Amino acid sequence: MERAVDIAVVGAGFAGMYMVHRARAANLSVQVFEAGTDVGGTWYWNRYPGARCDIESVEYSYSFDNDLQQEWEWNQRYAGQPEILTYAQHVADRFDLRRDIQFSTRVTSAIFNEKSNNWRVTTDKDDVVTARFVVFATGCLSSTNVPHFIGADSFTGPTYHTGEWPHDGVDFTGKTVGLIGTGSSAIQSIPIIAEQSKHLTVFQRTATYSIPARNDTIDKEYVKEVKANYNEFRDLNRQQMGAFGSNIRRGEQAALEVSEAERRQEFELRWEEGGFAFLSSYNDFLLNHDANETVAEFVREKIYSIIKDPDTAKKLLPTQVIGCKRLCLDSGYYETFNRSNVSLVDVGSDPIERITEHGLVAGGDQHTFDVLVYATGFDAMTGSLLKIDIRGRNNQPLAEAWDAGPVTYLGLSTAGFPNMFMVSGPGSPSVLTNMMMSIEQHVEWISDCISHIVSSGKTTIETTDKEQTEWVAFVNAVADMTLYPSCNSWYLGANVPGKPRVFMPLLGFPTYADKCTEVAANGYEGFVLV
Ligand code: FAD
Ligand code: NAP
Repeated sequence: MERAVDIAVVGAGFAGMYMVHRARAANLSVQVFEAGTDVGGTWYWNRYPGARCDIESVEYSYSFDNDLQQEWEWNQRYAGQPEILTYAQHVADRFDLRRDIQFSTRVTSAIFNEKSNNWRVTTDKDDVVTARFVVFATGCLSSTNVPHFIGADSFTGPTYHTGEWPHDGVDFTGKTVGLIGTGSSAIQSIPIIAEQSKHLTVFQRTATYSIPARNDTIDKEYVKEVKANYNEFRDLNRQQMGAFGSNIRRGEQAALEVSEAERRQEFELRWEEGGFAFLSSYNDFLLNHDANETVAEFVREKIYSIIKDPDTAKKLLPTQVIGCKRLCLDSGYYETFNRSNVSLVDVGSDPIERITEHGLVAGGDQHTFDVLVYATGFDAMTGSLLKIDIRGRNNQPLAEAWDAGPVTYLGLSTAGFPNMFMVSGPGSPSVLTNMMMSIEQHVEWISDCISHIVSSGKTTIETTDKEQTEWVAFVNAVADMTLYPSCNSWYLGANVPGKPRVFMPLLGFPTYADKCTEVAANGYEGFVLV
């Protein structure tokens, strides 16, 4: 049976959950569809050992309700996946969100009807919902990337992807394990899988820069301080480039303005403190190659000093610009390669040729193992959207509109797709920020916009080709002022063969948020309201 609602939402991670809350506050009916069996999104799916956030817990949490942020108690400086999932479930209970969410249901299509100006949303459970507005809260990192290796299906043992980890865990006891990848998910899981398994072989294509997280139980005095002025703390964080880290000491000098000895002292101090603050010692690491090289070389020296076997140490030394691929924070990652039950295979120079019944072949060598773990990341930012058959005006598929890469205005809207919004879409700061802040900013903007359309008696809102072309050029021009485009990162879509190379996230949360506010204040400048 067809149902009609004001807003159909796809996804019940932190974005979809907050969308329900805001829609209700605006007296709008809402229907959410979520493929998983419960809320939490990223933290529902990524249950691999060691999964945790790398933005401090007091910041990686909702700010919209003061009672919630005052009452919730975090246990860890960087909360682990179980703690974050419990938090998401607590929020769902506290605001009674689940009654508007249909779980275990994947949205398969969303098609705009130009006569009725409605979206028709269908699911794999044969639901049909018509909605005036559709909001994709499908997540930037929710579509797993499994490389198409020859013979992938021939492997006879179990295979797992970090982003779709079994709910009851994996017992690695007595098993030999092959793990492909050395990004954030890999560096978090490798130390734990190494402890549990008989032998772990890591297949590395690109060596990774990782900084010690120095995770620990949370400092209660610090939490007290934060909670004494929580709203001011959040406001200060929103004024930071990445919407986090107002308490981080930010170096105001360029790296090469100071002596080598002074730099080294500063790097040592920050290495001991751990966390992303490491890259804030000087202000030009992502602007100046030589400055970047000073800190990159420091990390290489650290890696070299940690690893006992010189051959393994050499393989682990990264060469790209540090920070160009997302910086990793770890708990004992490099040290793990000193264990006698861990080996490292470089598949950068000798790529994986094929998967076999009992392992894989790379550089002509057969490597055997019982269990295969893909820590190979995501088809980021566009993957989950393009898996849905989304069609706008003239029945045009989104996949066709974006065949040369995603084009959006503000990362919120795309031309030809009226009354359709994306939370943290390509072209918004999203993955370069504390995403909780970006999600809140987007959901608030979208819900205010929808309320405005409804209350002003308008029918549709959509952006234009001109506006979005200029926006994409702006996003890329900002990125081109930095060293970000200099490596094969997923920010550029470079991790998925054949994906168009467009720098997708926008650098700089505060100016972006101001721009969104200004756009709304000027009667939704850059949009056509009918
Ligand atoms: P998600 O949490 O990805 O939720 C999207 C939901 O949409 C999913 O549950 C998915 O099942 C559902 N969905 C997608 N397509 C469909 C469909 N067709 N039909 C129905 N449902 C669908 N960010 C930070 O800021 N700090 C961190 O420390 C951090 N750590 C991370 C660690 C990991 C392992 C990963 C993978 C990401 C991390 N992120 C981090 C980014 C993280 O994705 C965001 O912080 C945030 O959780 C995203 O929330 P979301 O609701 O936008 O998307
Ligand atoms: P990722 O950073 O994209 O890493 C994927 C890894 O798989 C890379 O090492 C990549 O090598 C490798 N790989 C991919 N295809 C391969 C192939 N065909 N052959 C060999 N190796 C291949 O993915 P991720 O680790 O899941 O992290 C994705 C993002 O999620 C992170 O950047 C971060 O934003 C978020 N995340 C955050 C945390 C956290 O600490 N809070 C934890 C996990 C994830 P190349 O580098 O050569 O491409």
